[in-house]
Amino acid sequence: MLGDNIGILAQKPLTLTKKRLRWLILLSSFPLFGMVTAFGIAPDTSPEDIPIEEVILGLDLPEILPASDENMTFWRQESIQRGDTIGTLLSRLEVNSHDAANFLRDTRDIKVMHQLVAGKIVHVQTTTAGELRLLRYFLGGSEQLVIEKSDGVFKVSGQAAKLETHIQMKSGVINSSLFAAVDSAGVPDSVATQIVDILASDIDFHRDLRKGDRFTVVYDSLYGNGEPARAGRVLAVEFINQGTPHRAVYFEAENGESGYYAPDGKSLRKAFLRSPLEFSRISSGFSHARFHPVLKTWRAHRGIDYAAPTGTRVKAAADGIVEFAGWQGGYGNVVILQHRGQYSTVYGHLSKFAKGLGKGQRVSQSDIIGYVGATGMATGPHLHYEFRFNGIQRDPLRVAMPVANPVASRSMAAFYESTKPLMARLDMLRGTSLAFLD
Ligand SMILES: [Zn+2]
Repeated sequence: MLGDNIGILAQKPLTLTKKRLRWLILLSSFPLFGMVTAFGIAPDTSPEDIPIEEVILGLDLPEILPASDENMTFWRQESIQRGDTIGTLLSRLEVNSHDAANFLRDTRDIKVMHQLVAGKIVHVQTTTAGELRLLRYFLGGSEQLVIEKSDGVFKVSGQAAKLETHIQMKSGVINSSLFAAVDSAGVPDSVATQIVDILASDIDFHRDLRKGDRFTVVYDSLYGNGEPARAGRVLAVEFINQGTPHRAVYFEAENGESGYYAPDGKSLRKAFLRSPLEFSRISSGFSHARFHPVLKTWRAHRGIDYAAPTGTRVKAAADGIVEFAGWQGGYGNVVILQHRGQYSTVYGHLSKFAKGLGKGQRVSQSDIIGYVGATGMATGPHLHYEFRFNGIQRDPLRVAMPVANPVASRSMAAFYESTKPLMARLDMLRGTSLAFLD
């Protein structure tokens, strides 16, 4: 890991010896991260397992070359609250105090900025360092005030109102359910669904979520006339599940190959999904006693039960071929899929099968194969899921799964270049929210 990072840095005009580099990393890391550095890096490893030196080194890329992030800007938005001043507003928007002061000075004569209307929305474009580039104040309808910094001075630059893409960042803490958390963070459902899909090989969102889990997501958002038109693609996400951070970034290589990868370029797509049950507003929520997973240990039960309302969609956990789709004793309506490498998966108690599903049919991972029900020996609607190897039930958590290809080594430089600012942003938001929680 050290070798890789140095290799990347060496391509920059900066010349630093390893020793000096290390000190710079230490110095630049501490003010922002303080005691949270231990969580810093190896996202798929528990913090206790990481040698301390590696933890510190892992923080270098975002911290050591702030200059290279200058062209990467982010949008933030806030609605004006009763009693807001320009100062309180800019501070909530994380504009640094230097630019906030200059903004106040330069907009002294712009009346409308001194009569902020509660409920109206203000967007700012800032660098990762909180430098203010542009502010949009949406006054209603298509009316908006655009104040842009040029040569260090903030000036009214006009009123544009076409559809544009903003990079949005949101963080949330899970108190009752993922959807409650995304709602209160103002994250659209389509983004929540993407988060679940992106991390589907690492986190079983039906069973693994705990109160206190946190997420930060960076995504494209399309705006027209100051109103969010629709959410676009998730660019980066961090999900801290039961204390373990999982990170993913979107990357498209020159040859067009794209996907979500761990910060080190490993693919996040695994051969099997962690949960074959579609995650949705109704099927989610560990706080709802009614939908709480049926509590049985795997050892006694040889399978996993997911309580969910009848009709919830069931997905193929992996690419495979339908070996059986029909009635089988206590399983009721059951689908058995055969996968590569002697693996098979079983989906029991279904209310119905996907249209046209039959023996011999080929399915792809995440294809809908049936719907939750209570057929066979079931006391209530739930999915009984089994994972078998050589015909014997196994605990899927204990079996090492094949993973999709990582970023090609010739694309790694481009990968780090394009994902570094996103990582920096995740680091920054994590630092902020932890400081707040402390
Ligand atoms: Zn069961």
